[in-house]
Amino acid sequence: MDYESFFKTELDALKTEGRYRVFADLERKAGSFPKATHHGAEQKEITVWCSNDYLGMGQNPAVIAAMHEALDRCGAGAGGTRNISGTNHYHVELERELADLHGKEGALLFTSGYVSNWAALGTLASCIPGCIVFSDAGNHASMIEGIRHSRAERHIFRHNDLHDLERLLKAADPSRPKLIAFESVYSMDGDIGPIKEICDLADKYGAMTYLDEVHAVGMYGPRGGGIAEREGLMDRITVIEGTLGKAIGVVGGYITGSAALCDFVRSFASGFIFTTALPPAVAAGATASIRHLKNSQFERMRHKDRVAKMRKRLDQAGVPYMANQSHIVPVMVGDAKKCKWISDILMAQHGIYIQPINYPTVPRGTERLRITPTPLHTDADIDHLVNALSELWSQCALARAVA
Ligand SMILES: *Cc1c(COP(=O)(O)O)cnc(C)c1O
Repeated sequence: MDYESFFKTELDALKTEGRYRVFADLERKAGSFPKATHHGAEQKEITVWCSNDYLGMGQNPAVIAAMHEALDRCGAGAGGTRNISGTNHYHVELERELADLHGKEGALLFTSGYVSNWAALGTLASCIPGCIVFSDAGNHASMIEGIRHSRAERHIFRHNDLHDLERLLKAADPSRPKLIAFESVYSMDGDIGPIKEICDLADKYGAMTYLDEVHAVGMYGPRGGGIAEREGLMDRITVIEGTLGKAIGVVGGYITGSAALCDFVRSFASGFIFTTALPPAVAAGATASIRHLKNSQFERMRHKDRVAKMRKRLDQAGVPYMANQSHIVPVMVGDAKKCKWISDILMAQHGIYIQPINYPTVPRGTERLRITPTPLHTDADIDHLVNALSELWSQCALARAVA
């Protein structure tokens, strides 16, 4: 086989479809987020509008100071897996902080949110004898891969559809263990799962619940514990999973749950056991960020205000976006090539960076610009973006929203 030509042909197919991924070469600037330098044909300052550093905590002074201090005290890396010399006191402190955040007995750190979903779901579903998994159709790739890897029997219920979930639960053998896996805030549409109702069904059919709060941690609830905290439902969820890489502003992932469940995953999950622990400085930064967000309402309030302002200005300009109850503003283009073209022009002519979101991240025909306002975007930033989008909407002959 001609390996090289195989790779090139496959890549050419992606390019023809307009969904070949081109990374923006960015240099983030602490102290001036959401501005960054773009290293393109020329080097220039741009405004980032698609970051998952939702609250700008990646440049929070308390976070940076904690990371500097830990780096100076402990050095660069953890020096081993958690079991073999890699557990640093900063990891232990962070796990306590996370358990407290979600009102659980235990927490377990992973190198990313992806790994935490993959490893925890993979381990639970494969190790619990006869376990059947019920998975929301909108679940993130990391959950899907974890469930697939477990080889457990799985049923996919229609997105946020309680009737479909109950139909599947009812049809399953009542004596077999069950696990329902779902999310609170869904990343691409920004809609929110019916947590209480899913917990009610879980109780009725004797299932465990596994909730991905990745897009909600730090953002919702009086202490940033997520949607389940806001709705007073944390104690009804078996496993709450989250990331330290989005609103927390650093990197890493985790699960929280009972002491026995966390100890079980700690003891059996390959993706936890056989990998180097996070650098101590990362754990220190995440702890500082979580502590800050447990006490400060400022970031969450300012963030809400920015999102509302953004939607209002888009309404006035007639630029269509998907309505939802969260902080994510998906501006719908519905065509892969136009989506990429608009993104390119925004960057080249307006100094605005929004990565186009195409298939397979979203279904074909729903290509979009996923806008994530932060507390640090100004009124002028918002006006600049909406004016540019409005102009490009006309140039692309895209439909306007009817007011
Ligand atoms: C981003 C994401 C993850 C993965 O988290 P990382 O820390 O980035 O690996 C998991 N679940 C959902 C829903 C996500 O959007």
